[in-house]
Formats: sequence, C-alpha cells, structure tokens
Amino acid sequence: MRRSGETSIFTEMTELAHRTGAVNLGRGVPDLDSPPELLAGVAEAVLAGRNQYPPAAGHPALRAAVAEHQRRHYGIELDPASQVLVTTGATEALASAVLALTGPGDEILTFDPCYDAYPADARLSGATLVPVPLAVERGENGNGAGFALDMDALAGALTPRSRLLLLNSPHNPTGKVFTPEELARIAELCVARDLTVVTDEVYEHLVYGSARHVPIATLPGMAERTLTVSSAGKTFSVTGWKVGWISGPAELVAAVASVKQWLTYASGTPYQEAIAAALGTVDDWAAGLRATLTEGRDLLAAGLTEAGLTPFRADAGYFLQADVRPWGFTDGLALCRQLPELAGVVAIPTRVFQQGEDVMPWLVRFSFCRRHEALREAAGRLARLGSDR
Ligand code: PMP
Repeated sequence: MRRSGETSIFTEMTELAHRTGAVNLGRGVPDLDSPPELLAGVAEAVLAGRNQYPPAAGHPALRAAVAEHQRRHYGIELDPASQVLVTTGATEALASAVLALTGPGDEILTFDPCYDAYPADARLSGATLVPVPLAVERGENGNGAGFALDMDALAGALTPRSRLLLLNSPHNPTGKVFTPEELARIAELCVARDLTVVTDEVYEHLVYGSARHVPIATLPGMAERTLTVSSAGKTFSVTGWKVGWISGPAELVAAVASVKQWLTYASGTPYQEAIAAALGTVDDWAAGLRATLTEGRDLLAAGLTEAGLTPFRADAGYFLQADVRPWGFTDGLALCRQLPELAGVVAIPTRVFQQGEDVMPWLVRFSFCRRHEALREAAGRLARLGSDR
C-alpha cells in the first residue's frame, strides 16, 4: 500500500480514545437514533424467514424504492430492473464501479482532500488517482472559511488518459456542497472531454441551512455518463447495515454488476426489505435528522470558537474542520496525537485525506454525528483547553 498511514491513523486514534477515556470525534460513526419502523422492519423480515440470498442485483422492492426516490427528489427517471443495482454499502458500489470502468493506464480525477476509499479503489484497479485541489475560500464577517471548485486546477489535471471523475457532493471530509454553478462547469467539461462520472452522494439528505444538494446526473448531457451512488447508512444512521446502491445508464450499471457479483454477489435481504419501505417516507425522517445534526454542528463549532479556533463552514455531512495554528500547532497530526491527553477529545488530522500536496497540514477534522451530550462535553473540554493555552 502506498499510504499505509490512512488506515492506521483511525486505529491509533480509536486506541487512544479507549486508553484515555476521550470523547471520540474521530470517525464518522453516528450514535443517533434510527426510525423505529425501520428497525422493526428488519426484525419482522428476519422472523418471517426472508433470510436467503436476494437477487444479485438487489431486492426488487429496494430497487423500485431507489428509482422512486430519485424520481421524487430529483426528477431522475430510472428503470429499476436495469438501471439500479443494490450493493454492500456505497463502499462496494464505488469499488465495483472503479474496477469495472478503469484499469492500468487510466486516470481518475477526484477533488482533494478526498474520502479515503477513492485512492484505495484506484490502487485496486491499477488506475492512477489524480488529485485536484479544492480552493480555500476565505471566511468573512465571522463566518468560517470554505472550499470551492478551482476550475483551472480541474482543467489543468485533464490528460488524454483521463477516464473518470470521482465526484463527492456533499463532500467528505470538508462538508462542502458543490453549488449548481460549480456542477454546471464540471458537467460541461465532462461532456466536452467525454468523461464518465461516478458521484458519491451518501450525504444527500444531510445538507444544512440554505445549501441544496443537486445531483450532477440532472445536468444537461450528464444522465447518460453518470453513475450515482448512495446508501442507507447516513440517511437512517445505520452505518453497520452496509446497504447501498448505484444507478445510471443500463450499460454502465451492467458493467458494475459484472464486478459486484464476484465481490459479494448479494447481501442483507432483511435489511434491503426494511430500507425499501423506509425510503418512501425519508423526507420526514431526514428533516428531524438534519435538525439534530445542525444543532450538534453548532454546539461543536461554539466549543471550537470558544477555544480560540475558527471552524470552517460545514454545509453538510458529519464533520467540521478547524485550523489549529492558533493553538501553536502547525501539524494537525502532532496535535491529534496529543489531544486525548491534553483535552480528552479525539479528532483526525485532515491531512490523512490529502492525496496531493499537503497544503493544509494544520487542518483537523472533528465529527459531530454524536449525541448532544457527548458534543457538549467535548465542546467544554476543548474550550477549557483553549483558555489554558
Ligand atoms: N462515501 C463517503 C463519502 C463516506 O463518507 C462513506 C462513509 N464514511 C462512504 C462512502 C461509505 O458508505 P457505506 O457505509 O454505505 O459503504
């Protein structure tokens, strides 16, 4: 493995959290509630004996529910039989898509920093991941800084070997939601350069304030070249169930299915059945979850601010980033190794998600997908650390 540090940092920090009793804001593992009907639905399906393999492409009810979800929310029309494939989490959808569509000699573009599965998937396929840095937008009037598309960097990263754009909006780790204008510029380029897009939209329902999620597949010329990935894990706070899906043009979905069948063949019949029912009423559920996460984000941001840091803007997802230089650290990794002892909090240096030049070694990622008691405790501990420094 080229960057073995990627996995070890999570193990190292989890061990530190256990050893020190620190509040763990490292990993994106929620301890939030899930819809009771969804939980009951799995138990019912298990007890009703629906415990054998579903069809390899996924439970028909879930494929239909995903197609209906895409139509209702985004106006995307899909044939559930040929254009939707259920996978073992978004993780398998992403890996299968990258393996199906790329190989040695191909280049995969992605915005940097990026979710750590992308470089791993590129390595598995033998393709080269080309990181395209996101630009940092300065904060104004007390608002934190944010991230923006750098169109010159994207255009400059293209070569005749560019095959795929691996897009992630809403984006992990930054919490950025690509704006409609940014997506339009990306889409124009993809059409002009005949790129296929795999878009990871697992945080589609976790978007806060005035930000809006727009799937790139809805832009002109994109439906025929885009595979859209999502999953139940974040939407229903059931990350351990590992049920995801991928949808798009039938021939691309068939290519992905041809890989997926040899990875897991199929998974989790009772989970798929219960999620199919829950997706139909996701709107009410997601509104409550967004309110909980917005409040959690703001609690944590207030603690970080009191501690003398200015968190970056996070319009979506589970994570807040903060520049830790006001605490006298230029290296987020060094801080994260000491933070459990110093403050009783675990966080992750954003630089572990950086594939290209390490331009922001001082950025640290804190997760807010935790119950408010834990976030209040962490915020208080961080604030005390700030006042002690
Ligand atoms: N993509 C992103 C951006 C993620 O943050 C995650 C979960 N951390 C995944 C994919 C994986 O999703 P799943 O658990 O459904 O495999």
